[in-house]
Amino acid sequence: MPTPVFKQLDRSLHDHLADVMRLASYADDRTAAGLARDELPRIVTALEALLREHRPDDHGRCPTCRTRWLSRRAPTPCRAYLAAHLCLTLATAERARRNATSTG
Ligand SMILES: [Zn+2]
Repeated sequence: MPTPVFKQLDRSLHDHLADVMRLASYADDRTAAGLARDELPRIVTALEALLREHRPDDHGRCPTCRTRWLSRRAPTPCRAYLAAHLCLTLATAERARRNATSTG
């Protein structure tokens, strides 16, 4: 069960990300460019920090994630790393598809 502190942090983080997403989608170009300059480096830094926690150890295992079976360290790439990779590559593929659709 999440603690009240976690709930507050989680809500704050999700609210911030929702604001960023809303502005990126609906703000004018100048605001969106400013948003990208301000927020993108922070988001990339946060993602890099998270991914560092999931880099394989000397045995090719994630030092953070555990398997359900015997609670062993999960093989890498772990689910967290794969989720980040999929989100980024799918977003890139989706953007490329949209650009191809709008120009062709
Ligand atoms: Zn992991």
